[in-house]
Amino acid sequence: MLALEIGELLLQLGRGMLAERERDRLTSAQWLALRFFSRANAFSRTLSGLAAYQATTRGTASQTIKLLVERGYLVRKKSPYDGRSSILSPTEKARNRLAADPLATIFNEIDSLSQYKQELLRDILRQLVGQLGGEARRHAVGSCKDCIFLLIRRLKARDGVQVNLLCKCVGLPLHEKDLELLCTSFQAKQVVAHSARVREEGT
Ligand code: SF4
Repeated sequence: MLALEIGELLLQLGRGMLAERERDRLTSAQWLALRFFSRANAFSRTLSGLAAYQATTRGTASQTIKLLVERGYLVRKKSPYDGRSSILSPTEKARNRLAADPLATIFNEIDSLSQYKQELLRDILRQLVGQLGGEARRHAVGSCKDCIFLLIRRLKARDGVQVNLLCKCVGLPLHEKDLELLCTSFQAKQVVAHSARVREEGT
């Protein structure tokens, strides 16, 4: 019964987080997309990236992007990685809007939890997202720092050690400043570690 209760609370939380209020000015789908494009790395800030994140069709994601571009929240640029697609980036107007995110209270509440609780909650949610089945199968997003595809090479240099970062999934170099950004190709290595720790603690 406890599992059911937790599931019901997750549903209640999810529905509450997607609820729209008059003063929010954007729909919940537009907010979701805006948050995604402000947090995602350059490989993921695409039409396909948003569709994968939202588990919607490319058509639905395209409509949301079109509206956000028309309203001056996103700009399109040709992708340097794939000539057939565009990269979407948030504008200053979007950043100003995000500064008054209606979900700021819940994000602050999560931030007030201990580091351990935050990591545990994140890993459990990742596992649960990965279990969602059906046609719209979801893939939990995450960032490079705990992704199995991050390759760190330390090379001897004249003035010390040079650290090179590479993504083994896309085969491209990474910048340190981008390591915390969301990625739709992410695959967690941390979940396994946490599961082992939780088993050891018998919780
Ligand atoms: S290392 Fe992982 S999270 Fe980082 S860009 Fe590559 S696939 Fe994405």
